[in-house]
Amino acid sequence: MKIELIKGDITKIHADAIVNAANSSLLGGGGVDGAIHRAGGPQILEECRAIRNRQGKCNTGEAVVTTAGNLSAKYVIHTVGPVWNNNKEKESKLLATCYYNSLKLAESLGVKTIAFPNISTGVYRFPKDLAGKIAVDEVRKFKSDVIEKVIFVCFDDENEMIYKKLLD
Ligand code: ADP
Repeated sequence: MKIELIKGDITKIHADAIVNAANSSLLGGGGVDGAIHRAGGPQILEECRAIRNRQGKCNTGEAVVTTAGNLSAKYVIHTVGPVWNNNKEKESKLLATCYYNSLKLAESLGVKTIAFPNISTGVYRFPKDLAGKIAVDEVRKFKSDVIEKVIFVCFDDENEMIYKKLLD
């Protein structure tokens, strides 16, 4: 898989799937979650509600898929990142699981290009350098005949610097 770094807003990215850093309610929130629901329109939330009614809340590390509504992507993959608590609750492992489960789900959908935000590095306060290392390691480890390109979308300067170094 090719790995790319883009600085900017994930809702503007052209990819088959974009990943949302959701919360376990799946009912929307701030940050990247809010931006995706705003740009994608109400259809995304409708499908999130249907998933909740079917299977209940989404646990940390899990991933589910909905339409991407008005976005140019085909799918939004919603994954629930861990809230940082000094790694007392296996947050590092759980963050890696978010990337793994999102890639697995994307693969099952025939996704060729997928864009990730920097999961858990906003209100969930995961240290950005550690989160970046985990994300890049997990993606590099993942071998796929289906997915051709993974795009890391960094919204802030600090993450952009971290990913630049990691991907050099
Ligand atoms: P979390 O709850 O997982 O920490 P946040 O949405 O608060 O989720 O933050 C995750 C990351 O997404 C942060 O690094 C934040 O800067 C970034 N982010 C916020 N808005 C956007 C956006 N529109 N596109 C891409 N990344 C974004």
